[in-house]
Amino acid sequence: MNRWGKLFAPLVVVAVLMGGLAVPGQAAVSEDEFILTFPHRDAETHFLSEFGVAKPDGRIHRGVDLFATRGTEVVAGADGFVQKAQRGSRAGLYVVLTHGDGYESWYIHLGSFADGLQVGDPVAAGDVIGYVGSTGNAAGTSPHTHFEIHKNGRAIDPYRYLKDAFERWILSRQIEAGETPFR
Ligand SMILES: [Zn+2]
Repeated sequence: MNRWGKLFAPLVVVAVLMGGLAVPGQAAVSEDEFILTFPHRDAETHFLSEFGVAKPDGRIHRGVDLFATRGTEVVAGADGFVQKAQRGSRAGLYVVLTHGDGYESWYIHLGSFADGLQVGDPVAAGDVIGYVGSTGNAAGTSPHTHFEIHKNGRAIDPYRYLKDAFERWILSRQIEAGETPFR
């Protein structure tokens, strides 16, 4: 990167993040763009772009694994309804939420559900739906939530939604804590 690139790249990042906070629902996003709330209440969560990668058993990884401390709160990624809250042999405890415009979010290998969570319940973005664990075929692995986004019945790559949601959440925490020069 040249000298000007070094100078301006951080400014562009801040401008983009501020723009995303200042004008929710406007600007660069299209009308039906899915805006995700980061699904873990743990700023140390780590995750990689790994959608579509073949697993050792030959199946394709249809989501992104969010690694965090066991017991971390897992929250609804958007407003919607609880479509499933059940146990599967591979998925372990899992929740599926339905949202508008054909979107669903999936939260797999949970350690436990939030108290009282029921199929059909409405949820708001950020509501606790469960806790990080390693149930199903994740037993023996580091605790993580296998997270998927589906659009019109098909899994789509959730990585850019997660990255964007994580950056917005971290920035909002910094603003609340007075750690940023702009308010
Ligand atoms: Zn996974």
